[in-house]
Amino acid sequence: MKKVKEVAGNNTSDLTEMNRSAIVRILQQREVCTRAEIAKMMGLTQASITKLVAYLIDMGIVSEVGIVKGNGNRRSIGLRLNAEKNLVIGVKFSRHVFAIGVFDISGKLYTQSETEFSLDENTGKVLTAMKDQIRKLLDEYENVVAIGLALPGPYLRKEGRIAMVTRMPSWHNINFIDEFKNEFDKPVFIEQDANAGALAEWWFGDHGRPLSSLTYFLVGEGVGSGVVDHDSLLLGYQGIASEVGHISIDFNGSTCECGNKGCLELYCSTMALLKKAEKELPELFKEKYENRSEAVSRIVEAARKGNEKAIRVLQEIATYIGYGCVTLINAYDPEIIVIGDSVSQGDEFLLPTIKKIVEERTIPEVSSKVRIEISRLKVDPTLYGAAAIATDRVLRKPSEYLASN
Ligand SMILES: [Zn+2]
Repeated sequence: MKKVKEVAGNNTSDLTEMNRSAIVRILQQREVCTRAEIAKMMGLTQASITKLVAYLIDMGIVSEVGIVKGNGNRRSIGLRLNAEKNLVIGVKFSRHVFAIGVFDISGKLYTQSETEFSLDENTGKVLTAMKDQIRKLLDEYENVVAIGLALPGPYLRKEGRIAMVTRMPSWHNINFIDEFKNEFDKPVFIEQDANAGALAEWWFGDHGRPLSSLTYFLVGEGVGSGVVDHDSLLLGYQGIASEVGHISIDFNGSTCECGNKGCLELYCSTMALLKKAEKELPELFKEKYENRSEAVSRIVEAARKGNEKAIRVLQEIATYIGYGCVTLINAYDPEIIVIGDSVSQGDEFLLPTIKKIVEERTIPEVSSKVRIEISRLKVDPTLYGAAAIATDRVLRKPSEYLASN
């Protein structure tokens, strides 16, 4: 039987690496900082910071960028992270499509592509196509330090398998850890899509620092959430913590594929929204839609033109998203909830209802403080999230993963 450490200890070298990582993470967020500012933020002496920074400069991870105005108007040398020397590949895998993008660790996008596949297609063939594309990008971009892969949840993180994939059972037996662990000479890190979205918002979402706890609420084809609490992703025992889409909001509701009844996902996913809209607004769907996200855009467009029925349909979905937010607040006490993915289009019709529900159903001390926002990320949050999975891991061990050039 595999031995598990009861209590994790830290060696002095671990502590040094943790401090280097903290500096790198501060610079990832603030672009340019002085040594004195970093010392203040970390609560360490400037002498310690000077030593740690010297190593990071020697390794080529951090650079000096001339004189900037520091504390108390003193002029000091600025420091910046050499983000452009450290690229990551993000891979988003979903039910009908896989997307691949090259980013740097500050979140700048270099290139992206999408490949559609059918659910009847041989899984091996799809995986080979994905790996071939990654290999091509690794040849093209020599500064790639890691690869992040975002999969639909619930993903059994320790085992490497997707536990339940609605309408794509052939993928159930694929072990993603085995598939990718020796495939490239770069590390591959894997998380489920809502966790990826949470990391994307944490690293690239520009929600202000310091930030104690962020919950990403994914409302798309699936419904789920990811929680970053005090700088760490909440994982749980098997890696499937915070599967809010399968929390029941009606004990007697219809049966969900997970075995539970009346799961939240059945009420506010893209499918639930479209089912309702096709009944109430058949005129919008006379022409076949390209994909579900485009179908949601049609409803939002109609609402923006003043179509009362479209507005009502969106508000009804928002009510359920609001119930989800109440659960997230009671379970995780987030400082901010960021709602993302395809259903989150048309925020002007969703947010007022969501906030009203939260105000009615949580204690005032909580509802007055929690921020609820719609994702403002320009790129698909799950693809961005795949890059954030890799970014998160490499920034935690700069000496191991970041470029030494
Ligand atoms: Zn369920």
